[in-house]
Amino acid sequence: MIWNENKECMSVDARRELQSKRLHRVVEYVYHNVPFYRSKLQEADVTPDDIRSVDDIVKLPFTTKQDLRDNYPFGLTAAPRSEIIRIHASSGTTGNPTIVGYTRKDISVWSECMARCLTSYGITRNDIFSVAYGYGLFTGGLGVHYGVENLGAAVVPASTGSTEKHVRLLKDLGVTGIACTPSYALHLAETMEKMGIAKEDLKLRSGAFGAEPWTENMRHEIENRLGIKAFNLYGLSEIMGPCVSYECDAQNGSHINEDHYFPEIIDPETLSPLPCGQSGELVFTTLTKEGMPLLRYRTRDLCTLYDTPCECGRTSIRMGKILGRSDDMLIIRGINVFPSQVESVILSMPECAPHYLLIVDRAGNLDTLTVQVEVRPEFFAQGFDTFEPIIRLEKELSARIKSVLSIGVKVEVKQPGTLARSEGKNRFVIDNRKLK
Ligand code: ADP
Ligand code: ZN
Repeated sequence: MIWNENKECMSVDARRELQSKRLHRVVEYVYHNVPFYRSKLQEADVTPDDIRSVDDIVKLPFTTKQDLRDNYPFGLTAAPRSEIIRIHASSGTTGNPTIVGYTRKDISVWSECMARCLTSYGITRNDIFSVAYGYGLFTGGLGVHYGVENLGAAVVPASTGSTEKHVRLLKDLGVTGIACTPSYALHLAETMEKMGIAKEDLKLRSGAFGAEPWTENMRHEIENRLGIKAFNLYGLSEIMGPCVSYECDAQNGSHINEDHYFPEIIDPETLSPLPCGQSGELVFTTLTKEGMPLLRYRTRDLCTLYDTPCECGRTSIRMGKILGRSDDMLIIRGINVFPSQVESVILSMPECAPHYLLIVDRAGNLDTLTVQVEVRPEFFAQGFDTFEPIIRLEKELSARIKSVLSIGVKVEVKQPGTLARSEGKNRFVIDNRKLK
């Protein structure tokens, strides 16, 4: 089934024309309402009138996460404060979080796009759908929630956390659809097994999974253990939240809601656009957003776009699986973690040397983060060679890191000189999760 055949199956030419019109409009809108973009466009010697079609998009400047941080909290907001009705923030970022404000129309576009995704997963108004993404500043919970309501299915706002209680609800209510991170889905399966509940005891048949990378192997495992069909759901808060792209039954890439989010692939080194079929960094321009419209936002996600026809009848461009990142961001339990965040906590403690190692692992189905850090030689000489101050330091560090990242970490304080010295980039992280 297709939620909005008009838009999802429109001819490629008609969509292009719509995108071109919308692109011109959004450039004009930010030019007049966001001083940051006005000066960027002026620097590039571009006026809104130079942007007549999507081919002109290459004339526009890029936007980065750093730009959002530099303009924290509302510097990139285009709509007047009175028009903003919802505010979300991206999980764990260095320094300032990324704040996104939505107008009433933005929320309605989001719910529309999310309803397209859910319909593609086979969800109808006859379903009972459980949202097991976190509710709160994170876009996952409320984003999917509004989509389910818009579609007309019954939404169960389970959120994350009380997993056993959730499993009981799945069974007792006869829940048929679910959305959560793929690792949480496996955690649910494990909890069911511990509780002695078999997949046959549930009515679950379809699931939407995203917010973190996952593999075909994980898909098969989720499908087997929960007895469902598992679909990909992709999104990012800067652009909207979950709903940017979604898999159909063909599962040969995720259809992008292109009439709202215009995709490009660029070479992350040279920044030149790459044709469909080549992998590079995914870039989005919001075509209809009012609260915080973004021009050519660099997602840092690496993937490939496909414009070949899809057997489902949708005509939109599809994106392949996320192959990695063009920065060093890790996604741990669905939370964005930059090694530099941990580093800045470590460096704020006089006892700690700037030698550390982050070890990411998956225990059962939950991600774990261990931080190993060396104590400075002068502190080691002054009592830090004994048990008690080390334990105290480990506790203090893990509390501080937890308050920055919002995830629990294990800290291991090491003797001076014990950690391998890193050469070059990204050597401070060992990621043992086998995602390939
Ligand atoms: P959060 O959602 O954790 O608050 P963001 O919205 O900033 O933070 O996270 C978006 C990022 O999550 C994307 O840029 C991408 O790296 C990752 N992500 C989201 N959905 C998927 C998916 N289906 N597959 C792979 N990665 C995903
Ligand atoms: Zn399709």
